[in-house]
Amino acid sequence: MPTGSPRRTIVPVTTIDSTRADAPIATARGLVRTYGSGPTAVHALAGVDLDVQRGRLTATMGPSGSGKSTLMHCLAGLDRPTAGTVVVDGEEVSAMSERRLTRLRRDRIGFVFQAFNLVPTLTALENITLPLDIARRPVDRAHLDAVVQAVGLADRLHHKPGELSGGQQQRVACARALVTRPAVVFADEPTGNLDSTSAHEVLSFLRRSVDELGQSVVMVTHDPTAASYADRVLFLADGRIVDELADPTPDAVLERLGALTRRAAAGPSAGSAAASAAVPAEVR
Ligand code: ADP
Ligand code: MG
Repeated sequence: MPTGSPRRTIVPVTTIDSTRADAPIATARGLVRTYGSGPTAVHALAGVDLDVQRGRLTATMGPSGSGKSTLMHCLAGLDRPTAGTVVVDGEEVSAMSERRLTRLRRDRIGFVFQAFNLVPTLTALENITLPLDIARRPVDRAHLDAVVQAVGLADRLHHKPGELSGGQQQRVACARALVTRPAVVFADEPTGNLDSTSAHEVLSFLRRSVDELGQSVVMVTHDPTAASYADRVLFLADGRIVDELADPTPDAVLERLGALTRRAAAGPSAGSAAASAAVPAEVR
């Protein structure tokens, strides 16, 4: 059992009633992802236990290479863990066939990537409704209107991505992620390519999707200001969750990141130092 924060009570996946309104929307237990083998193996995730809260915005932070994207990909069924379990909305993702994974990603998961990943030949509106078209699902006009309204793109719907600013393109991508009413939206550095004004627009939208639409969102970011939009921040180091912060402010996030960096720089035992970081400062 990897070292977890004593402040987090991890309940075994099997005892979670995923239908309860307060049940986590996604859980990971003993999550390991190893790339390669032998002496050159990279342990991108070295044992992650995690409950993603339903109807909350969770941010994930950590140094480059700490496993943030790998964690996101394993939770979202884009990558398979080497060991451990992932459950999203009551379904065990880590045990799914490729076919079921494809369906899960299409129907239950929304994605927002740093590079927007819009289809350049389609209009904003066509990009937004693309997941529904692919799934041959009808467009719920009221929900579409609510999402379009929330991203503030009503007057840009017939423009192609090339005619939109970066911030507008990312808001289209956010709307596309939300239009299917996914169980959870995963956003990997959604503001990484944006100026601060556009970043604020995208983050405000993700925040509102949680507050007004009850969406569950997990977001990777390296920006303390972006993280401060979240309800909770998880800190990764060396493939493990080593710290977390509720109701973050940018300053509080910066301070925790600073502590992480200092521990990592402390020497060759950085791995175990990272693990001991799971112990709250007041009892260390
Ligand atoms: P982060 O998103 O926090 O920057 P990643 O999850 O992308 O980190 O990567 C975690 C570790 O796994 C890094 O050491 C990275 O080089 C390694 N890694 C990620 N993807 C692959 C891959 N496809 N093949 C080999 N190593 C990988
Ligand atoms: Mg990454």
